[in-house]
Amino acid sequence: MNNPAVHISGLHKSYEDTMALCGVDLTIEDGQFYGLLGPNGAGKTTTIHILTGLVIKNQGVTEIYGKDTVKDFRFTRSQLGIAHQELPIDWFFPLEKLLYFHAGYYGITQKNAKPRVEELLVRLGLEDKRSARLRQLSGGMKRRYQLAKALVHDPKIIILDEPTAGVDVELRHELWDYLRELHQNGKTILLTTHYIEEAELLCEKVGIIDKGKIIKEGSPGDLTRDLGKAGINVHYTGWNDELNDALSDFSFILEDNRLHFTVRDPEEVMASIIQILSNHGCHIHSVSTEKSSLEDVFLSLTGKGIN
Ligand code: ATP
Repeated sequence: MNNPAVHISGLHKSYEDTMALCGVDLTIEDGQFYGLLGPNGAGKTTTIHILTGLVIKNQGVTEIYGKDTVKDFRFTRSQLGIAHQELPIDWFFPLEKLLYFHAGYYGITQKNAKPRVEELLVRLGLEDKRSARLRQLSGGMKRRYQLAKALVHDPKIIILDEPTAGVDVELRHELWDYLRELHQNGKTILLTTHYIEEAELLCEKVGIIDKGKIIKEGSPGDLTRDLGKAGINVHYTGWNDELNDALSDFSFILEDNRLHFTVRDPEEVMASIIQILSNHGCHIHSVSTEKSSLEDVFLSLTGKGIN
């Protein structure tokens, strides 16, 4: 399939007097790990609910592998697995049974679903809880169940709405490892988050969404290089006035025995700076780098922090 996994263009949605989406455009290639990053109320959940058929759009194109999510809803929904932000509230059935039910919604018989259900119960650490009701699970276990449910029919595209919201650090890292593994195995992943670290660590491409519009897209590295600030700090002794010329290609501030360079990418230029200083007889005591994060990028784009 040459079509992108997800293609959205000109997507609008209003709820009574709230404009939730005002022209969202985004494309996710097959096999890509895409992060939709934005503050509360930016329109992340509305976007994925429209893709999955839970919310009706006002206007715009929403396609999965080139098929319209409304006209070809059977095909498009069969390609998706979604882990919702809200924790599940199904009180009555054991967790294992719920997974079989869920596979059944996609036409998979209990016999055929069994190996997959068993694999997910083991992989997500839910084996001991197979007979538990959801109300008996902790918040973290409910999150694991959400993921198992999203994966039980082995979809090509996995949509995760704030998958690590409210989970402890250990489980967050476990879930990140698992998501990386799914991505390495070829899954396309769309993740919404307002954890900057999550987007930086996992996603190949990030769309920054604010007030119902994607305001910037790119790889986390490109975004921080283009819009953030980065620097190199050098603690030295032995300044030599010839260095003013030798370092004229760089923007720097000299203060006592410290030099601060403002650069686009510290790793790219650090070796040359050190070499120039050493060649001019400077003694270097320490070097440190500072790099901006997606949080800085968000701040420079919107004038406010993400959280
Ligand atoms: P969060 O990070 O808090 O989950 P979000 O980026 O997912 O936020 P949405 O849930 O898509 O944002 O909400 C976008 C806007 O639409 C918000 O102003 C929200 O209050 C509004 N909204 C969402 N769902 C509804 C609804 N069912 N009825 C009315 N307004 C809604």
